[in-house]
Amino acid sequence: MVDFALTSEQTSLRDMARKFARTEMAPHAAECDRAGRFPDEIYRKAWELGLMNLNVPTEYGGTGLALFDQCLIVEELAHACAGMTTSIIANCLALEPILLGGTEEQKHRILDPFCAEYHLASFCLTEPSGGSDAGSLKTHARRDGDHYVLDGEKCFITNAPFASLYTVFATTDPTLRHKGINAFVVSRDTEGVLPGKEEEKMGHRASATSTVRFEGARVPVANRLGADGEGFSIAMRTLDQTRTPIGALATGIAQAAIDHAAAYAKRRHTFGKPIAEHQAIQIKLADMTQALRAARLLTWEAAWTIDHGERGSLESAVAKCFASDAAMRVADEAIQVFGGYGYMKEYPVEKLLRDAKLAQIYEGSNEIQRIVIARELLQRYA
Ligand SMILES: Cc1cc2nc3c(=O)[nH]c(=O)nc-3n(C[C@H](O)[C@H](O)[C@H](O)COP(=O)(O)OP(=O)(O)OC[C@H]3O[C@@H](n4cnc5c(N)ncnc54)[C@H](O)[C@@H]3O)c2cc1C
Repeated sequence: MVDFALTSEQTSLRDMARKFARTEMAPHAAECDRAGRFPDEIYRKAWELGLMNLNVPTEYGGTGLALFDQCLIVEELAHACAGMTTSIIANCLALEPILLGGTEEQKHRILDPFCAEYHLASFCLTEPSGGSDAGSLKTHARRDGDHYVLDGEKCFITNAPFASLYTVFATTDPTLRHKGINAFVVSRDTEGVLPGKEEEKMGHRASATSTVRFEGARVPVANRLGADGEGFSIAMRTLDQTRTPIGALATGIAQAAIDHAAAYAKRRHTFGKPIAEHQAIQIKLADMTQALRAARLLTWEAAWTIDHGERGSLESAVAKCFASDAAMRVADEAIQVFGGYGYMKEYPVEKLLRDAKLAQIYEGSNEIQRIVIARELLQRYA
């Protein structure tokens, strides 16, 4: 039977995340956004509360939550600040390749010390020459005895300036395209690992994003994940897992937009009554609510599907694509409900639009999600 009711554990988890989001994150969201400040102290507190490394099983020191439960948390955090949420969940993205492709020895050796203290990790797939066509990546891995030597550059990497560990995708032979790609775990301390300066971004300004260069960085063969040439498959399976929480992040943005818009509509008066009593505003709020609820249910469905052991490529692409498009529409309408004040930085809704935009781009753009959805659909008619 399908049941939409949360268990008491899930309710407690959601309430705990909501409390953290509203008391620790929300009060600093506008200031971090304005200054482009990376609030390390908030991320440290999130780690202390078990709100980081959500996907890492407890036996390796993580929180070990089902994807559905992770989504409940991510929606609450994103309601307060999507940028901080991106930095908090970047560890899940960076560590998932180790969970999917690592041996028991690698998981314990790498994850146990990483999770035992507050650390950040980055997932390094995208390159300046293109992110969507990951099979054509150029960062080179040359085998040299019991090491690989990495050379190349990654870009737009979340948390890269502050990370102590990178999961890096590199090719041993570009002519093999995706079959030549390997996944490596690279310590920040490695000579020749050079994170670049932070990018100035439109939104998610509490998150840090930069390039990472690899100049002759020597990585032990023992840090290669999976069999030779399995890296591309590990990257794609990782994204199947981590796209669903992006649906939850977008849902959190949409919920915040509706909360602000509905409250404002009740207190703002025109023509002698609250604008909430004008039908045109009610229709906006009704359409926003439909988009929000559909986004949440699609996200829950994708998480449920993956938690039940399926790969969920179609479901996670649908959730991420729909929820992020919905968040853009809902944030845009929230600004319209606020009128001129909505356009001002003093009010919270213009940030929501800037933050929603990224959810349509990262973890595979929504054009790529539609390609995935169509491919999965058409396979079913073969
Ligand atoms: C703030 C931020 C944080 C990020 N964090 C990370 C991170 O931590 N790790 C990481 O590896 N990457 C990260 N990314 C990179 C992100 O995943 C890529 O930007 C994204 O995958 C798109 O790649 P691209 O920017 O190279 O665009 P391109 O691949 O150059 O695409 C440009 C446009 O063409 C469209 N397009 C491309 N191919 C097709 C096609 N076949 N059909 C139709 N349309 C197509 C795209 O949808 C897009 O609209 C981040 C990006 C940003 C902006």
